[in-house]
Order: sequence, then structure tokens, then C-alpha cells
Amino acid sequence: MTAQMPESTLLVWYCRRCDKSCKVQPPDPEQVACRCESPVPGLRPTKVTVMHPPKQRPMHVLTDEDARLRALARKGAKVRVTFEGEITDAWQWSSAGNRGLGFIVKSPDGRTHTVNVQQPGLHIEAIPTDEEPTA
Ligand SMILES: [Zn+2]
Repeated sequence: MTAQMPESTLLVWYCRRCDKSCKVQPPDPEQVACRCESPVPGLRPTKVTVMHPPKQRPMHVLTDEDARLRALARKGAKVRVTFEGEITDAWQWSSAGNRGLGFIVKSPDGRTHTVNVQQPGLHIEAIPTDEEPTA
């Protein structure tokens, strides 16, 4: 992203009570930070240059994958959630007569997930060596 963000110069009056902007010219509610009940603007405004980040464009292109996921996005839909990763740690725990296994699984994006093997409905299986995940 090398696109220059549009800039504009505002006149900002800072509140004498909280030192936050309480009045801007031209008016822009997003630039007003003061929340005092009766702000006390300073006598002189300060010139402030603000950048306007590009507005997020609404999604026009709906890919097949988006459409597929949107079709699933409703309460009661039965889904299977899977991700692939590598076990970086595992341990055995026991408490109050229960015992089980815990895994730390690192997914290809580098994040680690704590997995309680006893979680109902969870299914863990080995990935055959000829189809290992590509990181
Ligand atoms: Zn204030």
C-alpha cells in the first residue's frame, strides 16, 4: 500500500478541563474527544493535520467460498470444524478422579492452540505422512 491517505487540516480547540479536543472546525464529531458536561475551549485553536484512512469498501465480489460459508452461517447448522497442525507439546492430567490428555497444537500460521482431547465431539487423527500440511 503506497497510496497516500488524504489529509485535511482542522482547527482544534482543546478543553481546559481535560486537555482533550472539544471543538473542531470544520465540525467533525469523530475528532472530538472531550466528554466534559460543559467544555471550556481554549482561546486559540491549534492547527492539526489529520489523515483520513481509506474507507473500507463494501464487499462486492462474493466468492464461491464466501457464499458457501454464508450459507452455513445460521443457528443450528451442523458443521465439522477442522484444522491441521503439529503437536508441540502433550501432557497427561488427572484431577478429581478424571484423567486425560492435553495437546498444544501449532497451526501453520504459527499460532498455538491448547486442545483438550476430552472435549466432546472433538476428533483428532494423524495426517498421513504423504499429505502433510504445507506451512
Ligand atoms: Zn473537557
